[in-house]
Amino acid sequence: MSKHYNIPVFITHAGCKNECVFCNQKIITGQSANLNVDEIRETINYYLSRIDMNVDTEIAFFGGSFTGLEKSVMISLLEVAGEYIKKYKNYILRQFASLQFIQL
Ligand code: SF4
Repeated sequence: MSKHYNIPVFITHAGCKNECVFCNQKIITGQSANLNVDEIRETINYYLSRIDMNVDTEIAFFGGSFTGLEKSVMISLLEVAGEYIKKYKNYILRQFASLQFIQL
């Protein structure tokens, strides 16, 4: 099995309009969403300074519902991730999203 890293970026409950008791991360963690792009860069840089750069790595947005974010917020988060994807080709973006917020 090949090794890989996930760099976790928590967007605690952002984009979700529901409050399921088993999932509401604001209640579980007592923290609000981290949607500040400078703080997200700091988080990513922190992990990058501690991992083997030869190992496949993903930037993963955990918590919340990515597809429920306002478009401008979603784009700003993707732009930050895109900076790293361009710089380090082995980076893959991962998003966790609830499909219920996708409008066709
Ligand atoms: S992300 Fe899904 S499971 Fe979690 S609170 Fe929102 S609707 Fe419920």
